[in-house]
Amino acid sequence: MPDSNTSPPRAPASDWPSDGLEAQPACPVCATADRQLAHPALVDGIFFCAPGRWQMFRCQGCGCGYLDPRPTPATIGLAYASYYTHSTTPEPRWLSDASFLGRRLPSWRNGYLNRRFRHLRRQPSSALGGRLAPLFPYARDFAERDVRHLPPPGAEARLLDIGCGDGNFLRIAEAIGYRAEGLEFDPQATAAACAQGLTVHQGGLPDTGLPGGTYDAVTLSQVIEHVHDPRHALAECLRLLKPGGTLWVATPNMDAQGHARFGPHWRGLEPPRHLVLFTADALLRACTEAGFRNLSLKPIGPVSAWFLDASNRIRTGTAHRTGTPPLLTERLAAIWMDWRAFRDPRRGEELIVVGNRPLA
Ligand SMILES: [Zn+2]
Repeated sequence: MPDSNTSPPRAPASDWPSDGLEAQPACPVCATADRQLAHPALVDGIFFCAPGRWQMFRCQGCGCGYLDPRPTPATIGLAYASYYTHSTTPEPRWLSDASFLGRRLPSWRNGYLNRRFRHLRRQPSSALGGRLAPLFPYARDFAERDVRHLPPPGAEARLLDIGCGDGNFLRIAEAIGYRAEGLEFDPQATAAACAQGLTVHQGGLPDTGLPGGTYDAVTLSQVIEHVHDPRHALAECLRLLKPGGTLWVATPNMDAQGHARFGPHWRGLEPPRHLVLFTADALLRACTEAGFRNLSLKPIGPVSAWFLDASNRIRTGTAHRTGTPPLLTERLAAIWMDWRAFRDPRRGEELIVVGNRPLA
C-alpha cells in the first residue's frame, strides 16, 4: 500500500538503539521472503515515546504487513513508556445517546445479551432485543462484540484474557458467568488489576508459563500484532485451551478502509509496537495451521469513528482529543465505513476471528 498522504510525519527525537534491532527478512506469518515496501518511514505519532523510523513491508504471499528491522524482544519495552494500559480515555462515537437509535440500540442489545447469558443483568434492557435477535443473525453477532462472541459458559468455566490491561474485560467475563483470569505483560497494569481483586498473572506470549488444557476460552484483544512470533503465540493459545475450548482474537486489519485512506497515519499501524498486521485470510490460515477449527470472521462493531478520529490526530500531530464533536462529514464517513465492514468483515478496521480447539 503506498504512502498516500503527503504531510510530513513528526520527526523522532532520536534513533532506536542500533544494538536493539533485529532483521525480519521474511514474513513472520507465512515465511514468504517476497515482499513490497508499504511504508518507508513510519514514526510513533500516537504516544510519541518510541524513537526511530520504521519500514513496513507487505508480504506478497499472504498480504500481511511487518516491520523490518524491528525492535528486539529485549528492547521493545522502550516503545511502551507511556502506553495506554496506564490510563483510559473516552471513545468518540458517531451515534449520539440522545438520538432515537442511540437510546434504543443499547437496550435491545442488553435485552438480547441478558437472555443469552442468564447471569447477566444489564440495564437498560428491552425484551424486544431478545425476541428480534434470531431473525437478524448478523446484528446478533454485532451485539455479541461486547462479550467477545463467547458461548454461554458451563459450570466453573474458566477464561483467560491475554493482554488484559486494567482488567476491564475480566469484569465483563465474570458478569456473564466465567471464572476469569488475565495475563498482562505490563507490571503497572497487573498491579492495578490485582489491587481491584482481579486474578491477573504477569507474563506474556508466546511462553505464558500457565498450565495447558486449563481454559474454556482464551481471548486476545489487540495483542497478536505486538508479538514477535505470532505463530508460536497461537500454538500456545491452543495448548492453554481445553479440547473444544474457544479462541477469540481481535487485531487491526492490514486491508482496512482506513489504511487505504490515511496511509502511514492510519491508527492501526502503531509503529513500532505493532510488529505484524494481519489480513483476514492470513489470520484464518495462521489459526488453522496452529490447529484451530470451526473458524469464522465476526463483525467488529461500530469502531470506525474511533479509527477516523485517531488517524486524523496522527495526521495533524495532535496528541490529545480537543473535545470538539466530529464534523458531520466525518460522522457520515464512519457510518459508511461501519456499513461496508458490516457487509464484508475483510474490509473492517479490525479483524475478529473465533475458533475452537478440536475435541480430539
Ligand atoms: Zn506472509
